[in-house]
Amino acid sequence: MHVAFLGLGAIGAPMAAHLVRPGPLTVWNRTGGRAAEFVARHGGVAAASPRDAAAAADVVITCLGTSADVSGLLDGPEGILAGVRPGALFLDCTSGDPATSRRIAARLAERGVAFADAPVSGGTNGAEAGTLTVMVGGDEQDVLQAREVLRAFGQRIEHLGPVGAGHAMKAVNNALLAVNIRAFAEGFAGLVKAGIAARRALDVLNTSSGRSFVSESLVPDRVLTGAFPPTFRLALLEKDVGIAASVLEQTGVDGALIRRTRELFREAREELGLNVTLAGVALELEFGGKQVYFVARAVSGALRQGLFDEDKRLGTYRPVLVPLANLTRIDVRPPELRTWAREQSLID
Ligand code: NDP
Repeated sequence: MHVAFLGLGAIGAPMAAHLVRPGPLTVWNRTGGRAAEFVARHGGVAAASPRDAAAAADVVITCLGTSADVSGLLDGPEGILAGVRPGALFLDCTSGDPATSRRIAARLAERGVAFADAPVSGGTNGAEAGTLTVMVGGDEQDVLQAREVLRAFGQRIEHLGPVGAGHAMKAVNNALLAVNIRAFAEGFAGLVKAGIAARRALDVLNTSSGRSFVSESLVPDRVLTGAFPPTFRLALLEKDVGIAASVLEQTGVDGALIRRTRELFREAREELGLNVTLAGVALELEFGGKQVYFVARAVSGALRQGLFDEDKRLGTYRPVLVPLANLTRIDVRPPELRTWAREQSLID
């Protein structure tokens, strides 16, 4: 089965890498250098346009930022619709929105092309390991065929309902993550301000009922290790919370907390731009610089006030913008913050 994979971003590239060996695989990426890099590293063939990629394929997979990005690739002389074969299957692994996907599915159906939404969960680590959870929306028959391809990177493939069901599931999952990040930061700040050492607070939380993915994994694995991997961009999480808010609105559910979280994440994006990552959130949490400010805006004003503002040594700290590419570098940590973090037993 010939697969075309469009969108070799942070998670798309490791997903596509699993499709090289079953092959044949054609890849396309808007920034062509990324596709060339992928082919040099993993194999496959790079196509010159979405049309050329789709023309070669039995299955077309997209993994772009938003559903609007996917829609934007359909039309025009170089677009997917100009190349895709009738009878092909289109799988959208973008964390997209149900309404746009239903429109895309209808347009593809006019050409005899089946569509299923298939967003993933498990992060870039899960993509590399091939252990993602895939949340699928589509017709039974199409999903059956989709499984053959999705199992290359998906360990758990769940068919949740018609087109859009996968996207709804994914959006609500991520909205809960966002709520947790915010809630963790507020509570954690309060504990530290009340005089409890940060490391101990975290340890006790993690053996108690307030624990979450954020307290058990995000903070200890990506913050306290100093790894800060540039995995998932905050702007993408904000997008997911927005989709979840729309799903709730359309189903008549009062989503007060999710709506508020969307506002807080939107403020952060407006303040800081599109390229801050969740690891960036973590960086702030531990050390400061621009990221302290970001925590203040995005995750918790309380955290900034609680952990940093009233600390004389840290209160004078001027925010510094840390480029995305540098987030893996431990040496962005200012020395005073390192001292403070040692005193708090946050690092050795
Ligand atoms: P990135 O921002 O790293 O990559 C986005 C990809 O989409 C790039 O290949 C980019 O091309 C391409 N793209 C964006 N806009 C357009 C456009 N208008 N036209 C064509 N191509 C476009 O995102 P991720 O790989 O992290 O995420 C992809 C999707 O997967 C998102 O929906 C995200 O929410 C979801 N996701 C991500 C996870 C993660 O851990 N990263 C986890 C689970 C889901 P270019 O290289 O040219 O910029």
